[in-house]
Amino acid sequence: MALKYCQGTKCHTHRTKDRIKGQQGNKTYQTRRRSNFYYGNGNFCSTWCQNDWFNDFGDRAIDHFGRTTEPKMLTEDNAWYKDYDWRPGVDEPHIYYYYNPLTKERRPLTEEQYNDNNYTLNER
Ligand SMILES: [Zn+2]
Repeated sequence: MALKYCQGTKCHTHRTKDRIKGQQGNKTYQTRRRSNFYYGNGNFCSTWCQNDWFNDFGDRAIDHFGRTTEPKMLTEDNAWYKDYDWRPGVDEPHIYYYYNPLTKERRPLTEEQYNDNNYTLNER
């Protein structure tokens, strides 16, 4: 598996032993390199590095992709979400349903509909 570098702008300045590379007399702190990272969509070795990146580039990234300047809204037509009431018994199936917190309406779902990511009551 290909190794990749943490994208944290200050990763190499966080002085942990695992970041020290090189022979005696020529040692450096280096950006972490791994096959996989768990933060920031696989780009950062830690939330520390993710925050460093955001502090340096976040405003520019938001301006580039579009800053939110007015509220986004869910309406009664697209506020439905799937949920279920958990039942402990093997012979007692969970109760699946769609719920609309704006109208307080609840509609039953089958387990198949619950698991189907394309099935929705929300208007698109
Ligand atoms: Zn890092």
